[in-house]
Amino acid sequence: MSDKIPYKIYLEENEIPRQWYNVRADMKNKPAPLLNPGTGKPLGLEELSPIFCEELCRQELDSDTAYFDIPEEIQAFYKMYRPSPLVRAYFLEKALGTPAHIYYKSEGNNTSGSHKLNSAIAQAYYAKKQGLKGVTTETGAGQWGTAMSMACAYFGLDCQVFMVKCSYEQKPFRREVMRTYGAKVTPSPSLTTNVGRKLLEEFPDTTGSLGCAISEAVEAATTQEGYRYVLGSVLNQVLLHQTVIGLETKTALDKYGIKPDIIIGCAGGGSNLGGLVSPFVGEMLRGEADYRIIAVEPASCPSFTRGKFAYDFCDTGMICPLAKMYTLGSQFIPSANHAGGLRFHGMSTILSQLYYDGIIEARAVEQTSVFEAAELFARVEGTLPAPESSHAIRAAIDEALKCKETGEEKTIVFGLTGTGYFDLKAYESFNDGTMSDVIPTDSQIAESLARLPKIE
Ligand SMILES: *Cc1c(COP(=O)(O)O)cnc(C)c1O
Repeated sequence: MSDKIPYKIYLEENEIPRQWYNVRADMKNKPAPLLNPGTGKPLGLEELSPIFCEELCRQELDSDTAYFDIPEEIQAFYKMYRPSPLVRAYFLEKALGTPAHIYYKSEGNNTSGSHKLNSAIAQAYYAKKQGLKGVTTETGAGQWGTAMSMACAYFGLDCQVFMVKCSYEQKPFRREVMRTYGAKVTPSPSLTTNVGRKLLEEFPDTTGSLGCAISEAVEAATTQEGYRYVLGSVLNQVLLHQTVIGLETKTALDKYGIKPDIIIGCAGGGSNLGGLVSPFVGEMLRGEADYRIIAVEPASCPSFTRGKFAYDFCDTGMICPLAKMYTLGSQFIPSANHAGGLRFHGMSTILSQLYYDGIIEARAVEQTSVFEAAELFARVEGTLPAPESSHAIRAAIDEALKCKETGEEKTIVFGLTGTGYFDLKAYESFNDGTMSDVIPTDSQIAESLARLPKIE
């Protein structure tokens, strides 16, 4: 059977999903609602809609509707770079000498270089439909800002990106992609917001942080007429849009009668993993199938494996809503790690609930072992993986090596979220042997968790 499976399983254009799947509808224990940090009460549409587009607020708050139609304009845009291929990693299997069958869903085949475009285009569409002038957002290493600027260019929306200052200066390439697509990119902290000015007064030499950039972007959205704020991960709406990944994966596997045993994804805020696994988790929740699902996070920012399941702020500035999630504390600052997209202190509330309920597993991996996996993957499979994606590769390789020991012919599917062409500084430090693994101590984590807001 396996020799009949092509190297790449492509789907037809008409097999791109026409609906997103909302896994919350099948969850008995729903994720906890977002709370207003001032009142401690669940946030409703009225409170969320000055910040986010209205339709996106509806998606955010809806835990019951199982399927949302994907508007035709979004389907049309998806056709430019989807369906994405599901690749059988024959060469990796051979290099490992494993009896396991390994597949990866490859999301890097677009200019933004990652899965983030799947949600960016949806968020831009709803902003346009609402008649807004533009959106504001933050970006760290730049993947999300790039995706959002592409999506805004497509719909003729203004796009204002607050880019963490050190990235703005050290990673000019993604910045230039964003500007090419017409986005206005401002290094954060900046003098254009109150939050930024205050911070610069206090710490004139700061190189910025994601938390600060979020606070600036939210302020910019709420102080300009016709603007809303958009976010690239963590939120339920983002996870919903990312289910195109999992739905396509399932269609492709079903075509060849393949049933995965293990599904693996890297977890930063949880959107790609949530999107990949949602249809499979839905089957588990309905008692139709069983899978092992593994979230892989960096040992330097181990929200699932060493964090606490509690209400916390989503941003360092403590102005965003409170979410109940696995968190290291909003004031936790992970050590320098090259997987910028995985340096978030918290985790999607949906995945947090699933992890708490024992439906998904999690593990943390160290940076150098991640790059060893990335190097092997690049050499045998041809694609230079993003450092974030390489966390999933590491775990997939480890599972395949276990199969080699036991002789089990398991089927492993992992999400290859993006390509690493803009992450060559990280590869440089790996190649030079200067990469280190800095893991937070128990007391550092405890100190940060002691500052969680007191709720419940
Ligand atoms: C942003 C990003 C991630 C992590 O984000 P999630 O929301 O956890 O999916 C992973 N891989 C790449 C390439 C990214 O850009």
